[in-house]
Amino acid sequence: MEGMHRQGSFDQDGGRKNVHDVLKPLHRSGGAWISTTLGHWQVESDGYSLEQVLFVGPRGGGDYFRVGIFAGIHGDEVAGALAAIRFLDELAARPEIARGYEIYLYPLCNPTGFEDGTRNARSGRDLNREFWLGSREPEVQLLERQIRTLRFDGLISLHADEDSPGLYAFALGSQVTQHVVEPALAAAEKILPRNRDATIDNFVARNGLIRKGYPGMLCAAPEARPRPFEIVFETPHRADLEKQIEANLVFLRHALEQYQQLQAVGQDL
Ligand SMILES: [Zn+2]
Repeated sequence: MEGMHRQGSFDQDGGRKNVHDVLKPLHRSGGAWISTTLGHWQVESDGYSLEQVLFVGPRGGGDYFRVGIFAGIHGDEVAGALAAIRFLDELAARPEIARGYEIYLYPLCNPTGFEDGTRNARSGRDLNREFWLGSREPEVQLLERQIRTLRFDGLISLHADEDSPGLYAFALGSQVTQHVVEPALAAAEKILPRNRDATIDNFVARNGLIRKGYPGMLCAAPEARPRPFEIVFETPHRADLEKQIEANLVFLRHALEQYQQLQAVGQDL
């Protein structure tokens, strides 16, 4: 199953990555998940769409936690997008990973940038600086609507950093975030090293954790209370792609498990 993705993911179409090939696996669910097209838009003669996939895990102890996983908002950071698509297969094969969760996956948040191999969308905008600022970018508007409507308990964005020699993460939103991130980073560190620099991406960092974000980055709606956990996970872009994908998968599994455990403890208190 994995092999299928890897093959499909790297089909080139006149030197460009083909969005439709990459997203093909989303549409052969066999009932394991629900694919929804959130909207379509045109860029000159080319049509694009934003895809959402919902996977509902087996029932846990209480209410479902709702988590959004966002990948490929920077079009040239392919590891996260490929990992998100592969994560779906993992969920289908081992639904236990998602026990107690409704997982909303957005594997390709910037399809034009993905096709062009660029960080920014074809409009020239960095979509991860456009959120909650009245953006006119269709990708941002569609995602904002979902984020506002679904009121996630957690948001995880998958990125890759050109300049980082190792893994790191932004831990934002709820206070619980850092307790979710740390064990997930520790698990992913078995695949790729952690960036332990005191400064990463011009932010103060501690053991690969940054506690501050950028204006306009993808996050919960400004009015959302309580704040959900918000994580931006970064893999080192120059590292082996397969290892970056694996690190993403390990990180996702552990973050979900950790949050679930922390909530279970919280409810007993
Ligand atoms: Zn990025």
